[in-house]
Amino acid sequence: MARWGMIIDLDKCTGCQACVVACKVENNVPFADPEEAAEARTISWMEVVTTIEGEYPNVRARFVPRPCMHCDNPPCTKVCPTGATYKNPEGLVAQIYPRCIGCRYCTNNCPYTVKYFNWYEPQWPEGMDAYLNPDVSVRPKGVVEKCTFCHHRLQKATESVRAEGRALREEDYVPACVESCPSEAMYFGDLDDVNSTVAALAHGTRAFHLMEELGTLPKVYYLREGA
Ligand code: SF4
Ligand code: SF4
Repeated sequence: MARWGMIIDLDKCTGCQACVVACKVENNVPFADPEEAAEARTISWMEVVTTIEGEYPNVRARFVPRPCMHCDNPPCTKVCPTGATYKNPEGLVAQIYPRCIGCRYCTNNCPYTVKYFNWYEPQWPEGMDAYLNPDVSVRPKGVVEKCTFCHHRLQKATESVRAEGRALREEDYVPACVESCPSEAMYFGDLDDVNSTVAALAHGTRAFHLMEELGTLPKVYYLREGA
């Protein structure tokens, strides 16, 4: 079984946020209106964390795209009282929405702050509900949600290769954020396949994890800038 992981090259990321938009559209992530946003009720499964260094005119912006890390040792699953969040057989950290009671223990135990609570019944501007992705559920008020590495795409790819009578190849499954990145700053694939690009990059000298010292063993690796 593959161990799906992502590599994000910080030297290539321009902070354009195409990945953020692609993720929102792909996964039916609700919009926040200005009032909700003012109360920090926005939901974004993929965020680009931006920091500005230096003093004008010698400033430099740094961008760190941040999805769920799909930790191999996930702190979020350990505190869920209902088993709503768990590591599935494919190694992805999943949410079972009907089991979630909205206690938010998992949100508080995620050091990467990538889980979101639905404070409101999701609503879309008139006409935009016609564009919802039928492969992804719309989460109701009161549950926690987060990035799934576009797990529905893996399910679809698995079904189509089965119909073709062949094994799943790495290129059959790509999350929306990776597909949309205009600077090709993200790579996705099987970390356990020694011949894969992600495995080579994950073992390279530029690779690091966010908050490595916590022992969460993320499946998202970053490549350092300027190294
Ligand atoms: Fe859980 Fe957070 Fe790790 Fe994702 S990044 S698996 S939500 S602890
Ligand atoms: Fe589990 Fe939902 Fe509570 Fe998170 S908010 S710990 S997924 S029941």
